[in-house]
Amino acid sequence: MFKTLRLEKTLLLLVLLTAVAMFGQNWLLRESHVLAPAEDTPIRIYGDQIAGGNSQAELLAKGPEGISWRCNLLAGDPYPYCGLEIFLGESRSRGLDMRDYKKVRLWLDYRGTNKSVRVFLRNFDRRYSSVNDNTSTKYNQVEFEAKSPQGYYEFAFDDFFVANWWLREHNIEPNLSHPQFDNLVSLEIQSGSSHLLGEQMFTLHRVELVGQRIDTADWYLAIILVWGVVIVAFLLYRLIKMSAELRERKRRELELMEVNALLDSRSRTLETQAKTDSLTGAFNRKGIEEAIKHGLWEWRHSRKPLSIVMMDVDHFKRINDDFGHAVGDEVLAGISALVKDNIRTTDLFARWGGEEFVLVCRNTRSDYAEHIAQKLRTLIEQHEFAEVGRVSASFGVANLRGDGSIEALFKAADAALYTAKERGRNRVEVAPR
Ligand code: GH3
Ligand code: MG
Ligand code: MG
Repeated sequence: MFKTLRLEKTLLLLVLLTAVAMFGQNWLLRESHVLAPAEDTPIRIYGDQIAGGNSQAELLAKGPEGISWRCNLLAGDPYPYCGLEIFLGESRSRGLDMRDYKKVRLWLDYRGTNKSVRVFLRNFDRRYSSVNDNTSTKYNQVEFEAKSPQGYYEFAFDDFFVANWWLREHNIEPNLSHPQFDNLVSLEIQSGSSHLLGEQMFTLHRVELVGQRIDTADWYLAIILVWGVVIVAFLLYRLIKMSAELRERKRRELELMEVNALLDSRSRTLETQAKTDSLTGAFNRKGIEEAIKHGLWEWRHSRKPLSIVMMDVDHFKRINDDFGHAVGDEVLAGISALVKDNIRTTDLFARWGGEEFVLVCRNTRSDYAEHIAQKLRTLIEQHEFAEVGRVSASFGVANLRGDGSIEALFKAADAALYTAKERGRNRVEVAPR
């Protein structure tokens, strides 16, 4: 039978795996790309001199621990600024396609007069960028309050917007005005837009782009697919198993039926053997018991007559003496066969003992039983037995009387038979009424 417990365990495991796959999705599918620090990453620290300002910026350290720089925002440009630019691509125009990523994480320490810090992911696109103009790459921007260090800052790509001044300066059409991450050429960390003068200290420890290997919808679809496959496999397995079981059960039933049939026929054979005389094939005493009971019942309840005919082979002793016991046996079998072949199917022929037989005739009056006895007597008398030749038998006929005493019936038949013997044998005598 199908192991239910095993099924339950498998189901439980699958449910757990599904829970892990669903709730641990971020962890399982997360992929990240480290933008900084990297030993060989080219960087640039800049002030606002190009814009006509006086702000000074200087690199303090660059190593695996991060990049530190300091700048002093000084009056000059109406909007003084300074920053760090990390170059991402192989050139000014060929950058990284990071569309598959979703977020940017940065570990940054900032101390200074400005509250906020700006981050730009600069995208190069020939539709609006030119290699000669460094400011023509798109300014995908977030600005955030750089409080005391708190681990890391995280921004979704969706949180980015394109700096408005850049759109204006480069006359960008609305259809190109959305943030783009398909060709990132550089990352910039810049002082905030409040442009307050004074010293600013930055340490950038790490910048990472975070993505998801498989889309959430695809991931759920995969989970559903796995479930579908498991369910179909389970159903198929059960179907195959059940049909195999069915076949096995049918086979066993068939086997059982065969065994039963065999036992039935065996027991019927034994039953018949128990009621049959082995030498003559006629019924034995036990074999006629039922017929007599039946006849008795019929007599008592519906006055149907029951007659019996007692038969004894004449001078049988002599046959034995003259021809031997074996030949005597053959004669008994011969007589028995002769009688059985010439009686009605309703009559029951049995060996009463020795060379004595009895014929039970249900629903038969004694005059008709006498007629049967006469017929049998003639048959035996006229039969030529091998070796022995002619043989005869005597008959006593009686019927059930009064309220039906079987003992009286047999006594009467016996007496009639005795009379037949006395009156010279090879005769039929009917018990007197
Ligand atoms: P009758 O009946 O005419 O008076 O003479 P009978 O010789 O037949 O008399 P009885 O009844 O005295 O003898 C019957 C004999 O039958 C005795 C016995 O040896 C023999 N006998 C009984 N059973 C068998 C048997 O199964 N086989 C053989 N071969 N002989 C049997
Ligand atoms: Mg006898
Ligand atoms: Mg006899």
